[in-house]
Amino acid sequence: MPIARLRDCAQGFTRLLSDETLPEASILHHGRALLSALIAHDDWLPESFARPDPQRYRQYLLHCDALERFSIVSFVWGPGQRTPIHDHTVWGLVGVLRGEEGAIGYRQTASGALEAVGESRLKPGDIEAVSPRIGDIHAVFNGLTDRPSISIHVYGGNIGAIRRSVFESTNGRPAPFVSGYSSLDLPNLWDRSLEA
Ligand code: FE
Repeated sequence: MPIARLRDCAQGFTRLLSDETLPEASILHHGRALLSALIAHDDWLPESFARPDPQRYRQYLLHCDALERFSIVSFVWGPGQRTPIHDHTVWGLVGVLRGEEGAIGYRQTASGALEAVGESRLKPGDIEAVSPRIGDIHAVFNGLTDRPSISIHVYGGNIGAIRRSVFESTNGRPAPFVSGYSSLDLPNLWDRSLEA
């Protein structure tokens, strides 16, 4: 059953974060390997968590740790869709499953304004990290103009419930933001009878 790939990833992060003393750099290092194994195959994401919306990008929760130490989310981008500039307040790993994701990173200058520090283009299998320590502010978009793209993100908390900020422009003025999720449903990782 291909959904086992997602369960293996969720269990890998659960095991990793059971060591509460692990520094963020180690979480990102080992977490990158776990996410990399998940996105190495594009055969496991259920169709209902891969569905784009014509109006807006979708963020489907795929798994949330029972202690909310991490969450796994699929971002589904229709052609031309993008996020506002935003922060996370926790570590995050962004990996591409299908298509292409573009990201523009920002840093806050001494005056508080936001300055673009580079643009990246991620292809299937590529992974980028964010966190308040290494750079936490970016805007993300579908790198393709003619079809949907899908990226799988892992965050160091229940990202849809975290109070964070969006920035309407590069003047750096934050507006409070809680993203929520695009669906009430979760994939069922636990019916192992189907694998027998
Ligand atoms: Fe982000």
